[in-house]
Amino acid sequence: MDLDLSGKLALVTGSTRGIGLAAAKGLAAMGAEVIINGRTQDAVDKAMADIAETVAGAVLHGAAADLSHEAGCGSVTEAFPAVDILINNTGVYGPKPFFDITDEDWQSIFDINVMSGVRLTRHYLQGMLAEDGDDNWGRIIFVSSEAGIVVPVEMVHYGFSKGAQMVIARGAAESTKGTNVTVNSVLPGPTWVEATPANLAERARLQGITVEEAMARAFTERRPTSLIQRYASAEEVANLICYLCSKAASATNGAALRVDGGIVGNPF
Ligand code: NAD
Repeated sequence: MDLDLSGKLALVTGSTRGIGLAAAKGLAAMGAEVIINGRTQDAVDKAMADIAETVAGAVLHGAAADLSHEAGCGSVTEAFPAVDILINNTGVYGPKPFFDITDEDWQSIFDINVMSGVRLTRHYLQGMLAEDGDDNWGRIIFVSSEAGIVVPVEMVHYGFSKGAQMVIARGAAESTKGTNVTVNSVLPGPTWVEATPANLAERARLQGITVEEAMARAFTERRPTSLIQRYASAEEVANLICYLCSKAASATNGAALRVDGGIVGNPF
């Protein structure tokens, strides 16, 4: 199985921590040059130092930018006009009762979770498709969520944004017919990242329970259909992302692939 990505340039959005950082490490270990993105130069520098320490010989670039608006996305595409691999990973989430989600909340989650990927895909996919014949090659992955299928009652706006990503990925894949470019989405389930404790604390506050209780309820009440009955690690999610970026995944296109621990039962 050919997992070598030498000579390929990958952009992983939101790669200063969590799933994005794990994916960036995985791609670097497969030989790709990786562009690290986060909102601040400090966070980007720290992530690059972390990856350089973990992956010997990693070739890394930094692109500090807020991708929630056109100017931020434009600054990245200007600095790096073409990439071979784009991972639309940037995303925000947090519990909020449906009746409390304001118009501003809806717009904000749309701008960062949906439009960042739309803008970058619109730009980079054209470059991937531009080469003739066998020379065109590319991989685009939207890091969506099983929440786009099993919409969480406490994060309806988030579920909406994750469902939208799947639709956009499939729609964009339609432009790749007959080429060596693929566009897929990956659907993680609950994944333990640096931000998970703060997320659990917010859930506990909203429900008037302890953080320990909020954690215990994660798989008894919120995600009871999980077959693994635990959080995935960021690396477990990154493994699927990295495989899909490889040459070995050349026949998987326009798909929504789950790494959700079995939460979604029999979707279709
Ligand atoms: P995280 O909060 O740990 O990391 C998010 C990353 O995005 C950080 O690097 C942050 O700096 C960056 N970011 C946030 N806003 C940004 C902006 N405006 N511009 C540029 N960068 C920005 O998140 P995570 O848990 O690793 O989630 C990553 C992706 O995986 C998200 O799209 C999320 O929806 C999805 N996901 C996560 C889980 C989970 O349980 N952690 C489950 C399913 C799907």
